[in-house]
Amino acid sequence: EAFLARIDALNPVTNAVITPTAEQALAAADAADQRIAAGEAGPLTGVPLVHKDIFCTQGVRTSCGSRMLDNFESPYDATVVRKLADAGMVMLGKANMDEFAMGSSNETSFYGPVKNPWDLDAVPGGSSGGSAAAVAGRLAPAATGTDTGGSIRQPAALCGLSGLKPTYGRVSRYGMIAFASSLDQGGPMARTCEDLALLLGGMAGFDGRDSTSVDHVVPDYSETLSRSVKGLKIGVPKEFFGEGLDPEVRRVVEGAIDVYREEGAEIREISLPNTRHSVPVYYVIAPAEASSNLSRFDGVRYGYRCDNPADLEDLYKRSRGEGFGDEVKRRILVGTYALSAGYYDAYYLKAQQVRRLIRDDFTRALEEVDVIMGPTSPTVAFNIGERTDDPVQMYLSDVYTLAVNLAGVPGLSVPAGFVQGRPVGLQVIGNYFDEARLLNVGHKFQ
Ligand code: GLN
Repeated sequence: EAFLARIDALNPVTNAVITPTAEQALAAADAADQRIAAGEAGPLTGVPLVHKDIFCTQGVRTSCGSRMLDNFESPYDATVVRKLADAGMVMLGKANMDEFAMGSSNETSFYGPVKNPWDLDAVPGGSSGGSAAAVAGRLAPAATGTDTGGSIRQPAALCGLSGLKPTYGRVSRYGMIAFASSLDQGGPMARTCEDLALLLGGMAGFDGRDSTSVDHVVPDYSETLSRSVKGLKIGVPKEFFGEGLDPEVRRVVEGAIDVYREEGAEIREISLPNTRHSVPVYYVIAPAEASSNLSRFDGVRYGYRCDNPADLEDLYKRSRGEGFGDEVKRRILVGTYALSAGYYDAYYLKAQQVRRLIRDDFTRALEEVDVIMGPTSPTVAFNIGERTDDPVQMYLSDVYTLAVNLAGVPGLSVPAGFVQGRPVGLQVIGNYFDEARLLNVGHKFQ
């Protein structure tokens, strides 16, 4: 009730939650109380959260931040939603987000921009901006997010939170509306790594309904949180500290790495030479996959349909023309072009080849070091409206996060400090399925 009251009071200020679900929340809280009384509670029982509005929720609108799905009610729950509900968590509502998760500032949402609770002039980051603003504004103690190129880590960084993108395949994508299927991964956002450990334990695991889900044991992430970091080998890629990094952000991140040095970790400079290609590679592969995934929104089966179509072609054209926003259209155009006969080899195939080189950089580096550290974002939160007219400037916000998705390895962002009152995130990248170590390393700092 306290969180629901806070959503009522502060949602008009930050616009973090698109669809509050007070009635269902109170019913779920009652059920959780009974479980607790019966001695059947787990660590997540009765804990409230908001779900990014990309996760399908039966009987509650799932908009994906788009006019296209403004009228869409899913007939089923996403696996993540189901698993967390089964663990006794209480959904408070659905969080705002960039349209179809395309963006780095939550400004492409059909439901309007989200404000950063630390500074209402600033963006919260994106695309999981509503999730981040909800947790940072204390409208909820936890949230789900998805990360295709940084959308959990970057908003976590910009809102002073902890956020984890798990290994690709760790968390089921079933019922998570697809953006770029080979990159998309759901994960938790919360204040601390301690909370992330509990949440990931509830979300992770094999799911036969997702063909890329991996059957790999889910450890108890809380058990290893407090291990010492003495002797830990930390790689610091020189490519993450070059041109484009704000000098004040650099100072905060280097200060954070020094804390590990003092704890007995060994810091080594490493090189990830191909990561400099990750912006162009990502912005070919992600739009290509998106253009294919978004072809299902045709105005016929579900979602937005234009009024009085003259014929079938008019129905397709106007439903998509009116239902999608500008950024989504830009991605569909870029992706369709990159996949078209005659350009496929030059763009899509080439991008896939360079993607392999980027992955190999991580594999090589992680044979030498245990984790990789650097900034999550090159700057602190920028002002609302500051980058909306310059897509390339917006795409550069993701320069340190994209390579992690291209490689499929896990990445964590933890709060590292502030620059002029705006939070800075430290990014910790690890080997496949090494989430327990990332959370242990992040926890050391909290
Ligand atoms: N900002 C990136 C994009 O716009 C990443 C988004 C995401 O991770 N969903 O594609």
